[in-house]
Order: sequence, then structure tokens, then C-alpha cells
Amino acid sequence: MAQYDRAILAKTQGTLVSPQDLQAELLEPAGLQPGAAVCGRQLLGFETEGDYLRLDLVWPAGVSGFAVLAQPRKEDAACFAHSDQWNLSYRGEGFAKGDAELLAEIGRRLDAACVARSLTAQAVRERFLTRPALDTYLEISPGKKLYIRVTNHCDEACIFCNATEGNANVLESKSDAESILRGMPAGELAQVIFSGGEPTLVKSLPRLVKLAYDRGARDIILQTNGVALAAPGELEKYLPFRDRLGIGFSLHATEPGLSAAMVDHPDLSRFPAKLRAIDLAVQHGFRIKLTCVVMRPNLAQAPEFVRWAWQRWGQGLARVQLSYAMPRGNAWLNQHLLLRFDESAVEFAKAFDFGREVGLRVETSQSACPPPCVMPDYLDHFDLYGDFAGRVADPERVKPPEVCGGCQWDRVCGGVWRRYLEVYGASELRAVTDRPLPPMHLEDFLHAEVFDLGDT
Ligand code: SF4
Repeated sequence: MAQYDRAILAKTQGTLVSPQDLQAELLEPAGLQPGAAVCGRQLLGFETEGDYLRLDLVWPAGVSGFAVLAQPRKEDAACFAHSDQWNLSYRGEGFAKGDAELLAEIGRRLDAACVARSLTAQAVRERFLTRPALDTYLEISPGKKLYIRVTNHCDEACIFCNATEGNANVLESKSDAESILRGMPAGELAQVIFSGGEPTLVKSLPRLVKLAYDRGARDIILQTNGVALAAPGELEKYLPFRDRLGIGFSLHATEPGLSAAMVDHPDLSRFPAKLRAIDLAVQHGFRIKLTCVVMRPNLAQAPEFVRWAWQRWGQGLARVQLSYAMPRGNAWLNQHLLLRFDESAVEFAKAFDFGREVGLRVETSQSACPPPCVMPDYLDHFDLYGDFAGRVADPERVKPPEVCGGCQWDRVCGGVWRRYLEVYGASELRAVTDRPLPPMHLEDFLHAEVFDLGDT
């Protein structure tokens, strides 16, 4: 089975290709792989950005932050130079007159590699620079997690909801979901996560959970706002799967008013319904995680949230996650409510310290945004979920080479959202050079794989 950075469970013929494929098929034949020299500069790495290929370069004197952007040639597009097949431009400081030769040389090498591989730049764009439509594939996230979003519909409108910008792995057709679950080698995945939208709005959800359970899924997670599970008899439908089913409740405040503001829903009775559902789930002995997404309105309350949850549910909670709102969807629209990493770190640290005191697992997830270097004393509170040595978790993130070069935590860092850097810059990031990565269980960090449903 092929290895991919973000792996795909093939639902149709379309699968994503990996950066390694791009390197092997185009960049190495062009002599433009990381580490190569071009006109006295050294190539640090590459990324795809929209339909651009970005090559990061460093000068012998150490000047970095300079990138050459290559895009299949379009006559009407503005650029600094073009080759037979490519438009070339640059980004960053340090471009001097002589550097026109650098752009020309990169264009020449890309042209030659295309000819040698019988590729056109357009074909490169289609194969490597264009992501397939979201409904043509299922993606396994790093850490071998498979999210199945059984609906995009939701009965709340959280001010940070990222689903509004397009969700991967949406399976709204019940028969599609059932046939994929029937064919899935679920036991080979670390987690199958039922999410949405709000998955409990889908009546067939207990049946889908049963299918994953029967296919041998080792760990099943139901992510929910909990309101529907407060109705009599609803939670009980999941009791037969309790030994391998955990419930992740989204709860963002300790009181109804703030909770209503966070989920942008005026009905204050939803808050006590959520608490009832969690009470019940604790009584039934489900494994429970609370996820509190933090933005400016509930930041000050974050440490108090953890104390309050501990007082109410104590050891009934497996973990509490304080999640930074990733800069996507509604959170990106509500930029005035986005936090700097250092603002959230102050409050998160208080909550982590409390968790250490009482023996409650309190964590944050870098899948949401912050990289571990912004809270280096709290690495053990990060939900580390992949092995990213020299890579990032997905194309929306980056490890700025001028900061991240030589960082000893590169392997567990998924990178930083480009959008965060656009708003706040990279001044809070620091390469970690004085603390080696603690020993970790490799099994937890396996790359995801491509599973071909035809083989199962
Ligand atoms: S310095 Fe870069 S690689 Fe290291 S943890 Fe921070 S963002 Fe990640």
C-alpha cells in the first residue's frame, strides 16, 4: 500500500497525490529537490499553494524567507519571467538584479524535466496542484483517524465553526455511508470518528456506529453538542458499543448565556440539556471528552471551565480539551475574535496546571492550530497526532523555514496555519533547540495509508 501524507480511503477512482510524488516525478528530475543548489542558492523545501509551486530558497549568507513561485504558463498572468511552460515570480526580500537568472534557471529546469517525463505544466497542475473535489474521496487523517461526517447540517451556528468552509469526508447518503463502512478495514484504523455538522440529527447514526463496531473499529468517537442525547432513550441506543465508543461533547462555557453566544443560538434551554446528556453519559460509564473551543468571548473563562467541569463530573471525564479556534470558516469570518497564541497560552497554562494538580487530562490540539513551540513547557498537554518530520499536516499549514529550521520538535509539529501567520506573523514561534523530543511510542504516530476498498 502506498504511503501518503494525508491518506485517502478511496471512495472513487480519484485519490490525492503526495508531496513525495511531486518531488519524485518533477522536482528530482529537475534538480530542484530540497538541498539542491541553484545559482548559488540552496533549496530548503517546497510547498503547493493553490495552483502555484513554491520553492523556498536560502542565500549562502543565511538570508531566507525568499521563495520562487512557479505556475503553468498563462499569457495574461502577471509574472517576472516565463519559460516555455511556466510563469515565474518571487516572494520575499532580497531579490536583486542578478536574480532574474535564478528565475530563468528554475524555469529552464522545470521545462527540461517536463520534456524528459513527457509531462506538460498543465498536466503537472492537474495532477499535483489541484485538489480533487471534496466529494470524490475519503481522507484518513494523520494518526490513522477516519472522520465520517454523516451530515453537514447542524442545529447550532458556532462562531468558530470550520465546517462552513467546506468539510472533507461528508457522507450524507445513508447507503453510501453503510457500504463504505461495510467495506472498511476498520480494525486497521486508530479511530473512526462520527462527526458533522451535528451527527445526532441523523436518525440512522446508531446503525452506522454499529457497522463500524462490527467491522472491528478499535476506537469509535461520536462528536456531538449533546442536545439530542438528552432526550429519553437516545443515549441508551449506544450502550451496546460502550466498550469501544467514546463521546466527545462540545461545550464552550459554564453558563447558558455565554454558551448561547458561542454557539450563536438564542435558546438558553440547550445548555441544561447538554449538561443532562453529559450527566447521563457519565452515569452510563461512557468514555467522555469535553471540547471547549476558545475564542475571545470565553478566553478568560477557560481555566474556570476546567475547574467547574472537574467539580461536576470528576473522574467521569477522560479528558478536557481546550481547543484554539482554527482560522477557517466562521472563525476566519470573526477575525476580531481570534486570539494570538500567546494570549491563549496564558489561560491554557492555568488550566493545564490545574489538570496536573487533580489528575485530570487537560490538553490542547495542534490540529486546531497552535504548534508545540508556543508552550514548550507543556508538550505533554498537546494532542500529538502524527509524524510530520520535514512535513506539515495539510496544505493549509506551513513551517516557516527561517524559524523552523533545526527545530527538534519538527517530527511532532504539524505546522502553523498560513492564515494565522498572515494575521499575526511568526514572531511567537521559536525553533526548539534545547529540549530533545521525549521518547514516544512509534505505533501512535504511524503514517496513515491508502486503503483500496477494492482490496477489502
Ligand atoms: S519552531 Fe516550527 S517546527 Fe518547531 S514547533 Fe514551532 S512551528 Fe513547529
